[in-house]
Amino acid sequence: MKIVVLVKEVPDTYGDRKLDLETGLADRGAGDVVLDEITERALEVALAHADTNEGTEVVALTMAPEGSTASVRRALAIGAGSALHVADEQLVGADLGLTAEVLAAAIRRIGPDLVITGNLSTDGSGGVMPAMIAEHLGWAHASALAAVEITAEGITGTRGADAGAQPISASLPVVLSITEALPDARFPNFKGIMAAKKKPLEVLSLEDLDVSADPSIAPRSIMIAVSEKPPRAAGVKIVDEGDAADKLVDFLVQNRLV
Ligand SMILES: Cc1cc2nc3c(=O)[nH]c(=O)nc-3n(C[C@H](O)[C@H](O)[C@H](O)COP(=O)(O)OP(=O)(O)OC[C@H]3O[C@@H](n4cnc5c(N)ncnc54)[C@H](O)[C@@H]3O)c2cc1C
Repeated sequence: MKIVVLVKEVPDTYGDRKLDLETGLADRGAGDVVLDEITERALEVALAHADTNEGTEVVALTMAPEGSTASVRRALAIGAGSALHVADEQLVGADLGLTAEVLAAAIRRIGPDLVITGNLSTDGSGGVMPAMIAEHLGWAHASALAAVEITAEGITGTRGADAGAQPISASLPVVLSITEALPDARFPNFKGIMAAKKKPLEVLSLEDLDVSADPSIAPRSIMIAVSEKPPRAAGVKIVDEGDAADKLVDFLVQNRLV
């Protein structure tokens, strides 16, 4: 079985995350970048299956700036067998629609049986990429799974819901997205880091994938304004002098919170 795992480089969640007020994009120079933890967990799902199923091929796929090679190599060091990195200047500021088109084209080129993704990235937080890719491919989409089992025919799993857990199953090929309920990725050891340097890493452009970023061919979202989040105002402190409940209700009514 061939499994593609969608891995994404993001600004370090523990660092200072900023928007570039000129471009409206994440300011990647403002701090460190890391492989998004949820995508490392997605990789772990594929590798755990590969551990017990000989012949499983795991390919890490990313669409990211040209300088993101270290993050792609990390996916290889954790255990992916090969990687495909789509990098093109025309993708700067790519919206969800263009990203989905590009990633779907790359997936078609790799020709997997299964695609595993995170359910939500920590930077863009769109949460729709897996569904959009499934739509492009015409595949089933099993979203936000908190437990997954992969077989030669398909996948089964569980999606957490407010009132319980939903059992999910789908036949291959399928795009499946996972939540943080799944285990952390294994840590890349020295052997893995050295091996990663020799594993195949292909870098492709938009032209290689026959996808156009031209907004006259397909409508694209454009950023028309960006502004800094206003500083947080001081809160209201209610001291209970026997009338706290009334004051609380007044506050909620005044602020149209009830
Ligand atoms: C040059 C360049 C600059 C970019 N700059 C930014 C930026 O500043 N901010 C930003 O948010 N994005 C940036 N991207 C990436 C791209 O625009 C976003 O990934 C895309 O809009 C997806 O949005 P999301 O992360 O909200 O998706 P979500 O739907 O939240 O992602 C869900 C899952 O889909 C998969 N996925 C999403 N995006 C990618 C990807 N690019 N590659 C592989 N897997 C992916 C992951 O498994 C992720 O967990 C850049 C890309 C390039 C090539």
